[in-house]
Amino acid sequence: MFRQASCYFRSGSDWESDPVTFRPTVDRVSQSARFVTVPLGDRTASAIKCRFHFSDLWMLFSEVAFQSGSAVYNTSMTPRKHGHPTNTLPGDDPTHKVDDSNTRILIGCLVAIIAILLAIIVIILWRQVWQKMLEKASRRILDDELTARLAVQTQAFSSHHSSLSSEASSTTNSTYERIFPLCADYQEPSRLIRKLPEFAQSTEHLGPSTSCRALATSGSDSAPHYAEADIISLQESSDGSTYSITAVNMNLFAGTDSSMREFPRQKLTFKEKLGEGQFGEVHLCEAEGMQDFLDEDLSIEGNNESPLLVAVKTLREDANKNARNDFLKEIRIMSRLRDPNIVRLLAVCVDTDPLCMITEYMENGDLNQFLCNLRLKEAADEDKTEQEGKEGKSMVRYSKLIGMAVQIASGMKYLSSLNFVHRDLATRNCLVGKNYTIKIADFGMSRNLYRGDYYRIQGRAVLPIRWMSWESILLGKFTMASDVWAFGVTLWEILTLCKEQPYSQLSDEQVIENTGEFFRDQGKQVYLPKPPCCPDRVYNDLMLSCWRRNAKQRPSFQEIHTQLMDSLA
Ligand code: AMP
Repeated sequence: MFRQASCYFRSGSDWESDPVTFRPTVDRVSQSARFVTVPLGDRTASAIKCRFHFSDLWMLFSEVAFQSGSAVYNTSMTPRKHGHPTNTLPGDDPTHKVDDSNTRILIGCLVAIIAILLAIIVIILWRQVWQKMLEKASRRILDDELTARLAVQTQAFSSHHSSLSSEASSTTNSTYERIFPLCADYQEPSRLIRKLPEFAQSTEHLGPSTSCRALATSGSDSAPHYAEADIISLQESSDGSTYSITAVNMNLFAGTDSSMREFPRQKLTFKEKLGEGQFGEVHLCEAEGMQDFLDEDLSIEGNNESPLLVAVKTLREDANKNARNDFLKEIRIMSRLRDPNIVRLLAVCVDTDPLCMITEYMENGDLNQFLCNLRLKEAADEDKTEQEGKEGKSMVRYSKLIGMAVQIASGMKYLSSLNFVHRDLATRNCLVGKNYTIKIADFGMSRNLYRGDYYRIQGRAVLPIRWMSWESILLGKFTMASDVWAFGVTLWEILTLCKEQPYSQLSDEQVIENTGEFFRDQGKQVYLPKPPCCPDRVYNDLMLSCWRRNAKQRPSFQEIHTQLMDSLA
């Protein structure tokens, strides 16, 4: 306990001269702490100073409370030893000083935290803006580069697909569309995939998946890109998260086939223009002495005396280095493929420009156009010949259509035995010879569409979305199983005689939306309908099985081939 308390008051700048003095009653009985009230007599002041006088060696305060009209002010006290009183001078106000400095520290801390938060926000915003600018700039550079590089193909493409592309190109003018052919069968899926909720965030990986892009960009520069590999087999790991390229048969396509011989170009006689492709024009030519260049297994009509009719694909003379490399790559691929249902490369003219590849001539052009001009022969037409259908259209039997599908399945069976993924199987990429002979073609086009540029321009490639499996569109996975999916669509085209595009009632957005449904697997996905002439068994057991969500549950080309053959029996 203290012996005496003297309380001084200050109003204005001076301490008042009459302090309140208080002497508590001495209590020598109770040993415990107690409340002691010092009556201050209702004095008013802006500051108060209390001096406590020792009554013994120690005095201990736990708390001092000032009770005023409405407010209670607390302050903590520390024990003081006798002989060391607090050094307070009249005019000092320690309580206020402590309060002031605490408040200042608090405010300082808050300001610092706010400043740090603002700085973080500014840095994040700046980074985003900067990234966008970089992205735009690099895209512009790539676009320019691609435009320049592939300008040659552009012209060839655009005229090749002029009839089909005019509608598409009139509605849109992106650089990529100027580079690649824009027939209605090819679309740019990444823009559309962005609308799927699951893929709204990470649009850049769409088209090709992150994992596939990783494949394409990892590895050394000299390693083939996933999309560039001539022969690939994407193998899924057990957890389904990674893929690896199997190098099986890789060297099968390295280098040119030694048996691919140079043909003397002066022995080619131009007959007519057959069409225009990716690299330039395709001409029908007479090739004198071509018989000497033919393999024994190849049966092409003609005799040693009369010149053979061949298709000659020529690289445009003003083609740049990349187009030239692509052309040579297609030659390399085709020179190794030997199957009755794959268009055969017969010889090349590569010693001098313009580069030419000479392939067997397929009299009836591409399968899409061929089927468009046919009409299905039904029971009522039995008495009519194949040439006298309505609207002047030739007629074709269902069995002939299945026969065509069998040939495509057979060609694909051969490609799958080499682990070769075509990636663009469709009727437009098959050619028709005499007697409904069908051969798969257009290896160059699929390669070019999906090669490194596909990744470098971050999913802005145009793709045949209506023929593509859900995993090719959403995850960028191209495998034999995705070729099987495309075969299902090709079979549907054949059995509908290419009278309409697959999912013709759906817009491109809706096709991608439907792809999302395949991915979600909630039973909301829409399948191509059963063509009228298609038996239930072929539709349910074969066509629908090609579009199974689980790629591993889709049939192999071997199984498809057998099933189709059985359905004919
Ligand atoms: P491509 O460059 O392979 O896309 O060919 C362009 C067009 O030329 C095709 O759509 C066919 O109409 C035609 N064509 C290409 N190769 C042949 C061939 N071997 N026989 C007949 N026509 C062909």
